[in-house]
This record gives sequence, C-alpha cells and structure tokens, in this order.
Amino acid sequence: MYERPMSAPRLVLVALLATCIEAAAAQPAPVAEKAPAEPTLPSAPETRPHLILQPGTAKPGDPVLVTVRGLTGLPTGTLGGRALRFVPWQGGAMAISGLSVDLAPGRVDVKVTVPASRGAAPVELTGTLEVIPPGYPERELRVASKYVDPSKELKARMEADRRAFAIAFAQPLQAPFFGQNFAWPRPATITAPFGDRRSFNGKLQSQHFGTDLDGATGEPILAANDGVVVMTRENQAAGNTVIIHHGGGLFTTYFHMSRILVKNGAKVKQGDRLGLVGKTGRVTGPHLHWGVKVDDLWVDGQSLLKLDFFPAPLAAPSPASPSLAAPSLAHGSPELGNP
Ligand SMILES: [Zn+2]
Repeated sequence: MYERPMSAPRLVLVALLATCIEAAAAQPAPVAEKAPAEPTLPSAPETRPHLILQPGTAKPGDPVLVTVRGLTGLPTGTLGGRALRFVPWQGGAMAISGLSVDLAPGRVDVKVTVPASRGAAPVELTGTLEVIPPGYPERELRVASKYVDPSKELKARMEADRRAFAIAFAQPLQAPFFGQNFAWPRPATITAPFGDRRSFNGKLQSQHFGTDLDGATGEPILAANDGVVVMTRENQAAGNTVIIHHGGGLFTTYFHMSRILVKNGAKVKQGDRLGLVGKTGRVTGPHLHWGVKVDDLWVDGQSLLKLDFFPAPLAAPSPASPSLAAPSLAHGSPELGNP
C-alpha cells in the first residue's frame, strides 16, 4: 500500500512570543492579530522578524525546520542548545536541524537572534517545540553471521566505508538546491519505519536510522528531491549506495541497490531515477533503505515529507508596502541585503 506523503498540514507554531528586546520600546511586539497601524513605522507588520517552527509537535528523531521571515541579515540561534546553521531562504532565512533519537520527551526551546540593522536593535525570537515519546518498537532480525561477528578484513572495509560516508557528508553549507517539498523515493509499503530498535541474531543492538520501502529487485528508486550526487559506492553493510546532497545541510541516502544509475557529482531533479531496488549489503531481502541526514543527525524521512519548506507569508502584504511582498522562490535568494 502506498503511503502517500500527506499534503503537509502546516503544524506551524508561529512563535510570536517574540521577545523584542529593545525594539519593543519602539514598536509593539509583533503579535499578528493586533498590529496597530503606526504611521511613523515604515515596515508593514508582516515584515517584522518572526519565527515559524515545524513540526509543532515532534518526536525524538524528527527533523526540525526553523524559518525566519522579515529579516535584513542572517540570524543565529539554537535548538535545545544545539547551534542552528542558517542559510538565506525565500527572502528570509532557514535552518534545518533535528532532534536526537535519544532526546527525552518534553519541551525544547528555540532561540533566534536577528542581528541589528539600520539603527534597529537586535531582536530575540523564541519558540518552543513539544517533544512527545516516540514509541520506537523492538525487533529481532537474522542476518549472515559475518555481519554480527565481522572478521578483521571486514572491519577494515567497514572503516573505509565510514570514512567514505564522512567525506560525502562533509559538504559546505549552502542554501537548499530544491524548489519543492520532499517526496517518497518509491510508491511502496513501509516494511520497517525509522527508529526500530534491533537485535541481530540475538546479539548486536542497533537502531534503524532509515525507512525501509518494499520492492522487488530491479524496480526503480527515485530522487526524493533536487540535489547533487555525493556518493555512488558499494559499501559493506549499506550495499550499493547513492547519497544526494540537497543543500541546507540536508542529505538523503539510498541503500542496497542492485544497480546504480547515476554518477558522482551529477545534478538530479526530484523523481529522477537513481538506481534499482536490490539486496546488496546487510539485508534480509530486496528493499530500499531510505535515510535522511541533517546537521549530522539521522532523522525520520516520513517526518521530512511533512515539512513545508515554502510556508506562505504570515499575512497578506499590505497595499501600503507592495515592495515588501515576499520575493519569488525561484532562486534561493543569494543575499539578504537591505531592500
Ligand atoms: Zn533499513
């Protein structure tokens, strides 16, 4: 059964608790519903800095998208103490991060500082993410014993794989390369979700850092979004592997292919064929293991599909300030200079 990517109901927590430090003295706090018209202010209310957090409710292992609008410079910030790495996006800025699978449920604070500009003081924006228990199940798998008790040679190969992955993931931070939200790489049933806790042959404990999608050997595997191929390699456990860099610190990985159909360095568009389903590497049968890595954390691909990277502006642009309407999204706005 094909689990369609839901049309991302924007669980947007518009964090307008925004504690405007000094700016509060000059302007009312940026609360959307009551923004009194002040003839002395050149900016329309929707252009004041504001924060959009997705998802509103998250679980450990989820990606988190922090979008900031109404800026004139790149902000800095943290998610539960972890530094957010902002890139220019849609006339504002965004940072994609994640929640570690080991995170305890509760509340996670998001703090963003918008730098001072044109005589205005810096602005502090805050938001809170509700983190609920993930309920990751346990399961027992049986695989060839070589994977549980690897020989010296195998250990050396796995170390070489680890280095190759590290090189593939060491990409400079750039604005996202994609022009739409993420999509499934295959129209297929999920046979194992992200986060399963596993024991192999009753021994090795690990957690499943990907989503397994059903498939017969030879069926196509598609790019989940636009990006650049940064790995085409036969790995010991992952088998024939393709990794795509999407910008913004975000990667998708495709394991166990019977055949790889792209070259390292190639640019791909969403829906392009990357390879064919197979059973190479440490597997119990043919399937696609689809992984998502963001900001050095493996996160749940199903949750990535629900993120809206193109949220609508907070309020309709005021007729009084047509020049402040949200810019077009076609070219990930290379700079955030003053308009
Ligand atoms: Zn898997």
